[in-house]
Amino acid sequence: MSGTRFALEVQPELPENLARLRELANDLLYSWDRGVRSLFFRLDPALWESCGHNPKVFLRRVSQQRINEAAEDRIYVEAYNRVLSTYDTYLNEHQRKSIDEYLNPKNDLVAYFCAEFGLHESLPIYSGGLGILAGDHCKAASDLGIPFVAVGLLYRQGYFIQTIDEHGNQIAHYKTTEFDQLPLTPACNENGEELHVVVDFPGRPVQLKIWQARAGHIKLYLLDSDLPKNSEADRAITYQLYGGDINTRIQQEIVLGIGGVRALRALGLEPSAWHINEGHAAFQVLERCRELVASGLDFSSAIEQVAGATVFTTHTPVPAGHDIFDHSLISSYFSDYIEQLGLSMEDFLQLGTSPSNQGGFNQTVLALHGSRFHNGVSKIHGEVASQMEGYVWPQIPYRENPMRHVTNGVHVQTFLAHEWSNLYDMRFGMEWRNELLNEEYWDRIDEIPDHSFWSLRQSLKSELLNQVRRRVVLQCRRNRCGEAHIDRITKLLSPHESDILTIGFARRFATYKRATLLFSDPERLARLLNDPRRPVMLVFAGKAHPSDLPGQQLIQVIHEFSRRPEFVGKILLLEGYDLSLARRLVSGVDVWLNTPEYPMEASGTSGQKAGLNGVINLSVLDGWWGEGYNGENGWAITSHDEHYDAAFRNQEEANELLDILEHQVIPLYYDRNGHGFSEGWVRMSKNSMKSALPQFNSQRMVMDYIKGFYSPATRQGRALAKNRSRGARELAAWKDRISQLWSSVSLRRIDHSPRAVKAGERFRIEVAAQLGKLTPDDVRLECLIGKEDEHHEFVATEYFGFTAEGQMDSGETRFILDLEPPLPGLQHFQIRIYPCHPLLSHRFETGRMIWL
Ligand SMILES: *Cc1c(COP(=O)(O)O)cnc(C)c1O
Repeated sequence: MSGTRFALEVQPELPENLARLRELANDLLYSWDRGVRSLFFRLDPALWESCGHNPKVFLRRVSQQRINEAAEDRIYVEAYNRVLSTYDTYLNEHQRKSIDEYLNPKNDLVAYFCAEFGLHESLPIYSGGLGILAGDHCKAASDLGIPFVAVGLLYRQGYFIQTIDEHGNQIAHYKTTEFDQLPLTPACNENGEELHVVVDFPGRPVQLKIWQARAGHIKLYLLDSDLPKNSEADRAITYQLYGGDINTRIQQEIVLGIGGVRALRALGLEPSAWHINEGHAAFQVLERCRELVASGLDFSSAIEQVAGATVFTTHTPVPAGHDIFDHSLISSYFSDYIEQLGLSMEDFLQLGTSPSNQGGFNQTVLALHGSRFHNGVSKIHGEVASQMEGYVWPQIPYRENPMRHVTNGVHVQTFLAHEWSNLYDMRFGMEWRNELLNEEYWDRIDEIPDHSFWSLRQSLKSELLNQVRRRVVLQCRRNRCGEAHIDRITKLLSPHESDILTIGFARRFATYKRATLLFSDPERLARLLNDPRRPVMLVFAGKAHPSDLPGQQLIQVIHEFSRRPEFVGKILLLEGYDLSLARRLVSGVDVWLNTPEYPMEASGTSGQKAGLNGVINLSVLDGWWGEGYNGENGWAITSHDEHYDAAFRNQEEANELLDILEHQVIPLYYDRNGHGFSEGWVRMSKNSMKSALPQFNSQRMVMDYIKGFYSPATRQGRALAKNRSRGARELAAWKDRISQLWSSVSLRRIDHSPRAVKAGERFRIEVAAQLGKLTPDDVRLECLIGKEDEHHEFVATEYFGFTAEGQMDSGETRFILDLEPPLPGLQHFQIRIYPCHPLLSHRFETGRMIWL
């Protein structure tokens, strides 16, 4: 066909008694409340699918007749009233009582900055894990009722839509969204005028519009540069998520960081704690410093005050995952700004310099300098980040530096299949939703009869396989496969046959995730998948970044395997991985496979989604699984660390994976009792659900942030700011003094303690400290007592502070410690000194320490 195709939308009028559907369509709460979504899709399921699960578009396209019928239909109207009553109750709830001691909803406010947000497929401003995590964070913040706003960018084009052609090539398609189709409204002032803010780019101002999205209790503010007042080039800044080149990247990050702070100010908001979620948003620190400098504070004091109220989360141990800008790029965008900060270019560049890359400006480094509360996203990743970023605190042993961790979690109502939540409602009552922080509560999963548990899992799988079948057929027809081939591919996807062990692997195709590890021994794999009594199917899905060619080759490799005669119909590769496919996969398969190269998987969250649906994880002990695996809730592949040769590692781990499949997974799944199910499988599946639900949900994660990060940052920010920043000034001046005087500090031991004492006897340690111009109040002298571990490393278990006993003739200060040895038998001790000030956020934040 040729010629232009015109479109016309016939929009229905909403009857009075259903008028609030519009309100529901504009609250992203629909992304986690199935009741709300069902009001839409039951009106016209086909339309719901065809408009991409977008309630706003749906309401504009549903037929007047359907809407009128629904308005007359007592059952529908009852459901509508019930949903609204639940909705109103939700909105009227206050912050959970147990949080009041940490955050005051009247005075405190957390501002959460992130480059992407994945709440729902109808708001396509996310690419993958990071965005979905941010979406889950917002949802949990809403559920807990905390004072919280999120700040991000509004992209015309979200991440690409993926198809895979007949040769296994990934094709990226970009879809442009009309903003009036999204659940957003322009943020306005009290006169109803749109709020705009301006950021300065070289030689020109760039105007930004602020859009507002609502998600239950919280608001998400999104910045958009696509305004007629801007040049064509500037209108495109926020055009595409992670689009363009490094120039686009710095522009987007300036808009997010600097524009984001200005947007909050324009809205009249005064956050008390600021969360930088991944380095992309680090520039917000500079803008907050600029505000303080403009009000008369010097930069060093300003950054103390700003950092004290700031939380920074790093999400990847992969160096390429950190943004690094050339100094020339920085100077072209920031030369005026640096002047406003009162800094020299050199000092400014220092804020983003790491020892391993002196020539680049690293956003992770800026974020670390501009925050006092920092974390990785799992226990393992926290340690890796402590090491990787340890240069910020050069004299501190990395295990003790301020880098901590909060393990990621997922939003239960979003990712738990509604079949499970219905079952919980029935068996446990509606209140299970309030028990997500209560580990013991979830022991009652064991009360679900095994046969019901098994059959629910089977029916979720059967739904998934149906969906897989539809997708595979579409994909094949588009790629012009013959019908005979389609039959071969889908032979195991019959709606009547769900009893086939199904293993899922879906995530971004990045090489370190080793999607093809399973194929290292194809003959053995073929034998395992093709046992006629115990068949196994593998379902793969995922996108590779459009510029990641090795990642795209992985897709081709899987594609080729899926075409081999011995694997046809047994290995399926689905295109178009997105939130909606992810929700199905993580609830429908039997086993969720993950094979990252340790320690590259910072956390991983898809396995958590799988776990709460009773899917059993089979994964390398990396990321969250390092904490999640308890020996009874899944299988662990031993991780070999990076000191091993890569080929050796892959071989070892692949063999172990195939061994586990052959000797554990497959036999357990097919070990059937007289009722046709596997009791051992149900036990492990229940354990998987029971452990994932309370430990790895996003409410637990947000609570960890509240207690360990938001609340301390709020207190610290206030302490430094009060009395016109007196604390910040004092702290900055003290740090300056320390950095000038620290090099003259030294220690020597002057006691003659015996090498052995009797149990119950005390002994004394005396140390002479050369403090130069520092005073005993500026420092803490500490004794660590502990034992040697099996590698002869000293492990401290007890810490004791020395007391200063006045100056000696030499000018040194005498410190003493009287002590009854705390441990029995042979023990070791070490002595160290570090700067100490009551206004520090973390005792080692100065990064300085001297050992005797
Ligand atoms: C959860 C999720 C991810 C992240 O999962 P990982 O385990 O971190 O790979 C990525 N994409 C989608 C669509 C998801 O739902």
